[in-house]
Amino acid sequence: MSKNKETQEKEKTKETVLEVSDIDPKFKYEISKLPGAEKVMLCFQCGTCTADCPIARFDDFYRPRKLIRMVQLGLKDRLLSNEVIWLCSTCFTCIDHCPQDVGIASIVRALRNLTVKEGEMPVVYKELASNVRKTGYAYMISGLRLKNREKQGLPKLPKANLESMAKLFDITGFSKPLEKGTT
Ligand code: SF4
Ligand code: SF4
Repeated sequence: MSKNKETQEKEKTKETVLEVSDIDPKFKYEISKLPGAEKVMLCFQCGTCTADCPIARFDDFYRPRKLIRMVQLGLKDRLLSNEVIWLCSTCFTCIDHCPQDVGIASIVRALRNLTVKEGEMPVVYKELASNVRKTGYAYMISGLRLKNREKQGLPKLPKANLESMAKLFDITGFSKPLEKGTT
């Protein structure tokens, strides 16, 4: 069993023991005020979203139906510290098939945004965001690659306005999780 799998198994066990202190009764209202998440309370747990989700097909722990139920129950801390919320590919299949028109993908996005607001995000996204802030590109482009482009007669890559980029990161508060250590 890989280390990641072991951690996931532990998380799974932890999730089975629910304490009253784990519940934040206001959380569902907080979420339902966010764009696209208004219908979170309409979910009646039919499971269609999970049955049709391409990620749930490949991951034993990613279950959109369960995430929605956790929101309804107010399990805020468990949701925001749960790495599975970063697995959604935003394909919108769940939204297309939900009989209650619940914006599942938007709810997952809201959970991610709240996590980032609290200064946390997976290291891979942190690196991508950090690259965007430093260079304007999600991936660092090596000098060798740029020379090769020149040799091939390809046009120069456009330069980002890094000053504006830094301002945007600061104004939106997106610099905060980047300054924190890796999660
Ligand atoms: S498909 Fe809709 S109603 Fe059914 S479990 Fe998923 S979110 Fe809830
Ligand atoms: S949007 Fe996310 S939760 Fe919905 S089906 Fe696609 S991967 Fe699954």
